Amino acid sequence: MTNPVQPKPRRCPICSNLVGDDAYRPFCSRRCADVDLGRWLTGSYAIPGTEGDDEADAPAATVATDDDLLPH
Ligand SMILES: [Zn+2]
Repeated sequence: MTNPVQPKPRRCPICSNLVGDDAYRPFCSRRCADVDLGRWLTGSYAIPGTEGDDEADAPAATVATDDDLLPH
């Protein structure tokens, strides 16, 4: 991987401001980092019906099937 270092100004993916503080890369500030985290949590983790519901419905059927398929 040849990656020549270029002094290219980074822009915050949230507000498009120039990123000045490396502490919050790739964001310009902690606020924007928090915004992105919030989007992540609500967008990726909050998939309806994934948490709890799925497991509450499945276990009996899954266990029975697995037992049937196992050689005795
Ligand atoms: Zn920002």
